[in-house]
Amino acid sequence: MKTRRIKTTDRRKFIKLSLLGITGALAAPVIAANNPEKFNNYPPDFLNRFRPVYASSGSPSGQSPIASGTNPDNPGSLTGVTGHQPGSRSGNRPSRLTGKKKKAGLALIGLGNYSSRILAPALQETKNVYLAGIVTGTMDNEKKWMEEYNIPRKNVYNYDNFDEIASNRDIDIIYVVLPNSMHKEFTIRASNAGKHVFCEKPMALNAEECREMIKACRDNGVALSIGYRMQFEPYTREVMRLGQDKVFGNVLHITCGAAFRDTRFDHWRWEKDMGGGAMMDMGVYPLQAARYVTGEEPVRVTAQTFVTRPGKFEGVDEATTFQLEFPGGTVASLDTGFHANFNHLYAFAEKGWFELRPFSAYSGIAGRTSEGELDFPAINQQAAQMDEEAANIMAGRPVRVPGEEGLRDMIVVDAVFESIRTGKPVEVDLTGI
Ligand code: NAD
Repeated sequence: MKTRRIKTTDRRKFIKLSLLGITGALAAPVIAANNPEKFNNYPPDFLNRFRPVYASSGSPSGQSPIASGTNPDNPGSLTGVTGHQPGSRSGNRPSRLTGKKKKAGLALIGLGNYSSRILAPALQETKNVYLAGIVTGTMDNEKKWMEEYNIPRKNVYNYDNFDEIASNRDIDIIYVVLPNSMHKEFTIRASNAGKHVFCEKPMALNAEECREMIKACRDNGVALSIGYRMQFEPYTREVMRLGQDKVFGNVLHITCGAAFRDTRFDHWRWEKDMGGGAMMDMGVYPLQAARYVTGEEPVRVTAQTFVTRPGKFEGVDEATTFQLEFPGGTVASLDTGFHANFNHLYAFAEKGWFELRPFSAYSGIAGRTSEGELDFPAINQQAAQMDEEAANIMAGRPVRVPGEEGLRDMIVVDAVFESIRTGKPVEVDLTGI
């Protein structure tokens, strides 16, 4: 029988209890892992009971706020909207939400692949947030969505009348799921309308745009959360703990890659102006992984890019490899691309190793360490992400993945492109963000 790794010292006790038939709460993660469908709907506190404990305060210099975080593990009760602290720790204004709500109302903008196939279905499983509205460009789409998700006409907007959403009290959160080049405009417009914002990754075209988005949300007193779903996923939370708590000693080397073979050459992902390219689309996953495993911020970036299908790529990167150096001595060798299918994370530490394969797929995350298999419940990542961030907003807590997290990644992405252009290493400073 596989056992969920809680702590090395707890493992023997856990097996013994399970064998004795004391299934109850302790055995639940094992059962859940074997019945992923059944447990996609686990109650919000289910994972908290099994979550490893992460550092809750203090961020020594050079350490990433992913570790010391932005968010306590306990989401608390959802008794209503009490005001709000935007992702920043400064400039808070009271929330514009009024009245008591058990669930936040969310409107999706950008009803393409991710919204229709993944987010809307996930919103049928969420406890703290529901699909209240849509913002769409096409009439046909609009009818289909209204029927399928029971959305009233008054909660349907298009890109032109979008700003009128300000007066719609059903809508508390706008989720920006548009092509990357449109994230900045619609995040700022949503915040000007007094709505909290979830924005998909990569946060924007570059770090400068991220700063404008953060400022707009701060000035408008609304929260901004970036769609880094892996930060809510149990295996990912565990590798954060293994790396950041140095369970196997210092992490010395990380190899990580996320790529898929794309042949849709007419898609916006191949257009530079739209924020296309492999580094923007998939490169942020290994970049995130290197940061959340070490719990540190990189200080130097080197990168190279390769074209495997000449003539198909005009101005965007197809296969990119980049290296990050961390202040604690860890080196990360990271790969991304639209040229091949791979998805893996491996960390080699002083006294052992750990890996996830795949590490950033929508489902099927699996992993092991030099001491054995990891076994956690399979969850709906997007439902967990939206539920937790909605609960944070409604309770007036900072979100787990604020805009600053997207900004830090975009500073590194900017450095990746500069290194490719110049052929030289680029120093970065992510401290103080
Ligand atoms: P998509 O092409 O399937 O959908 C894009 C949507 O934007 C469509 O509804 C389209 O009508 C609309 N749109 C408006 N103006 C457009 C224009 N000028 N060109 C093209 N489309 C336009 O894209 P997607 O795969 O749904 O990705 C949307 C966003 O979600 C991206 O930022 C992407 O990085 C992100 N995403 C995140 C994940 C994740 O796991 N977190 C997964 C997939 C996509």
